[in-house]
Amino acid sequence: MGEKMLKSMWFDTIKKIEFPKLNNDIKTNLLVIGGGITGISCCYELKDLFDNITLVTVNDLYTGATGYTTAKVTYQHGYIYYDLMNLLGPQKTKLYYEFNKLGLERIQEIVEKEKIDCDFKNVDGYLVSYNNESENLKNELKAYDEIGIKGDMVTIDIFDKMAIKVPNQARFNPLKYLHGLIERLNISIYVDTKVLKIENNVAYTENGKIEADHIIIATSYPIYPNHNLFFTKLIPSISYVVCGKAKKNIEDANYISTKEPTVAIRYQDDTMILSGASHKTKDIKNPHDQYHFLKNIGRTYFDIEDFTYAWSTRDFISVDYCPFVGRLDENIYLATGYGKWGMTNSVASSLLIRDLIEKKDNKFAEAFRPYRSVLNKRFWKYNSQMIKTIIKSKKIYEHISEIDAGKGKIIKFNNKRYGVYRDEKQVYVVDATCTHLGCGLMFNKIDRTYDCPCHGSKFNFNGRLISGPAKKDLQVIKITNKEANKLQDI
Ligand SMILES: Cc1cc2nc3c(=O)[nH]c(=O)nc-3n(C[C@H](O)[C@H](O)[C@H](O)COP(=O)(O)OP(=O)(O)OC[C@H]3O[C@@H](n4cnc5c(N)ncnc54)[C@H](O)[C@@H]3O)c2cc1C
Repeated sequence: MGEKMLKSMWFDTIKKIEFPKLNNDIKTNLLVIGGGITGISCCYELKDLFDNITLVTVNDLYTGATGYTTAKVTYQHGYIYYDLMNLLGPQKTKLYYEFNKLGLERIQEIVEKEKIDCDFKNVDGYLVSYNNESENLKNELKAYDEIGIKGDMVTIDIFDKMAIKVPNQARFNPLKYLHGLIERLNISIYVDTKVLKIENNVAYTENGKIEADHIIIATSYPIYPNHNLFFTKLIPSISYVVCGKAKKNIEDANYISTKEPTVAIRYQDDTMILSGASHKTKDIKNPHDQYHFLKNIGRTYFDIEDFTYAWSTRDFISVDYCPFVGRLDENIYLATGYGKWGMTNSVASSLLIRDLIEKKDNKFAEAFRPYRSVLNKRFWKYNSQMIKTIIKSKKIYEHISEIDAGKGKIIKFNNKRYGVYRDEKQVYVVDATCTHLGCGLMFNKIDRTYDCPCHGSKFNFNGRLISGPAKKDLQVIKITNKEANKLQDI
């Protein structure tokens, strides 16, 4: 693939700001852990409540899902409201809609108030039915009617497909928006700073500890409590994105299809962004096939010849589709589980957390409480399949022969699975067992990473942790080039 792999287009639209790494002990009024839209939105909403705010993050700002999003700012979240009605009933479904509507309105308000140049644009949203399954659209529209979403059944000419149109949704450049917020905030930011554990309101990092009056966990997978069961309630799912200039164009709007494999389309200037082909990490797929699926749609319907960017990343979907937002412990708060709709959910979450800290009533607090019961059918189905996934993951490996530079494999040696990756200079060998709960890792040939099919952790080819739930790097097995060359098929 010739595209700029592993680099989403958003990073090329902003000027990087350099921040230091934490290298001493500090004290702060509010510690926000996580440099994505959740963390930065919380800093923004809480800036008047605390004299001193510190944000720390692994790697750099935006290197979680936020940097790889497609940033449709909308409460038209695919084919979801009918399912939500069945799972949770009208009252909670309405709260979900209102929460996300609040997020959309708040983003628009901030963009206007702070005059942030982030290509924010109001566009209509379309939920498109590929197969003209009018039954699905009718069901969704009925759910809209019951909870108060305005939607109309229309036909989209280019696809000749039926769709539900919801007016006045939006899209923006997420990194320009967040950069705009950072520039307007007076806070301390430390990058390359991983929090290893939190005890008694002290966060311990690799290079110093942070004592904080209040802590917000904005790390996508919750890193607090230090050992927790959120992996049974948060389903990791990967989505893929491709971009290019279309010769055949459609109305500038947000489009999303009803059924799996989903495809979503939006524009950024004259570039069309196609995303989707999503799957749970446990349903192991060849990423090439997923990109191919999206490109095929780009070529067939829109005459896209060159795909300039392609990337993928994972986000978490909660087992009841609703976010986990609220208090975890005395003065420790969480926001996560947005089901790939984190633009609006995160901003609404930051407002909810502000109210909780200020001890104000908030109508969303009970519905999205992090420790609410989620023992529904989806919970049992997902978790009962996990044992199978763990066993299957351990059985997948290849032979070591012919690993070219830039390539990697999972091999089996002395009954143990190892990840072997070769670059121009050396061979890297790691124990291919996830440091979270011991699942077998898969080598991702496109991203050159080791990915956990069970719970979604991701490690670099040299074993360094990219994203959790795992907290520790992989064990690196020292091996010389001479030894590596001796490794034969085993
Ligand atoms: C392909 C794709 C397309 C999407 N499109 C849309 C869309 O159109 N509209 C929409 O609303 N949503 C969309 N989403 C979802 C949205 O992007 C995410 O829900 C949102 O970005 C999550 O933001 P976050 O800040 O909670 O998490 P993240 O952006 O993942 O940030 C978490 C941060 O925490 C840091 N961190 C983790 N562990 C630690 C630790 N131990 N110590 C310190 N820091 C730590 C990470 O480094 C990271 O920076 C999409 C998602 C994907 C994958």
